[in-house]
Amino acid sequence: MPVFLLTNDDGYFSEGIKALREELRKLGRVITVAPDRNLSGVGHSLTFTQPLRIRRVEEDFWTVIGGTPADCVHFGYYLFLEGKKPDLVCSGINEGPNLGEDITYSGTVSGAMEGRILGIPSVAFSAFGREEVDFGEIAKVARRVVERVIELNMPEDTYLNVNIPNLPEPEIKGFMVTRQGRRAYREKVLKLLDPGGKPLYWITAEEFGWHLEEGTDYWAVYHGYVSITPLQLDLTNHKSLEFLKEVFKV
Ligand code: MN
Repeated sequence: MPVFLLTNDDGYFSEGIKALREELRKLGRVITVAPDRNLSGVGHSLTFTQPLRIRRVEEDFWTVIGGTPADCVHFGYYLFLEGKKPDLVCSGINEGPNLGEDITYSGTVSGAMEGRILGIPSVAFSAFGREEVDFGEIAKVARRVVERVIELNMPEDTYLNVNIPNLPEPEIKGFMVTRQGRRAYREKVLKLLDPGGKPLYWITAEEFGWHLEEGTDYWAVYHGYVSITPLQLDLTNHKSLEFLKEVFKV
């Protein structure tokens, strides 16, 4: 029976993690360790400047007070699994997509990245669509991805970023293996005034505008496919190595 380590960045109370936990429990044992609050956008932050408290929610389910997704994967692995590797780390299901350059901010994707750093196959799941997301349906599709992943051996250094359209399962066109797309930034800094008339600033993303290039993560979900992007820990730009070696030749 496979063992899963599950986390997210929306908090342990989120609909997305509950739905995914239910589906994963049909396949094996699920150890869930998730933040106690919504930490969307926290990225790969690890808390090492202060100690943290952990609260048990129910059997095999803990929340880390103030802990990030990376902290949660750490605690899950070192404390609750006592350093025994689970078969898969799952992160999500995030409320909202994680596409293009946005994945660098993503706590959801970072949960999976942390799993990969610990040497465990890992998958991040996000829902494409923010209105009335049916996490039950999306979790069913996520389970199909998980079944495939645990059947096969994922290549070393690879972890997956999976985005699932918010559609009933029969309306999903299929799986598409994609590359990371590019986002057209339309973020704004909103200026507000506090009751005393002093300015406050709020980073907002009113509109989403990715480049709709064929073969990308965004293209796939926009056209009703489940996007599966293989990611790697090695951030080196290998194409630039030779060029830079020339530039810095002494
Ligand atoms: Mn989130």
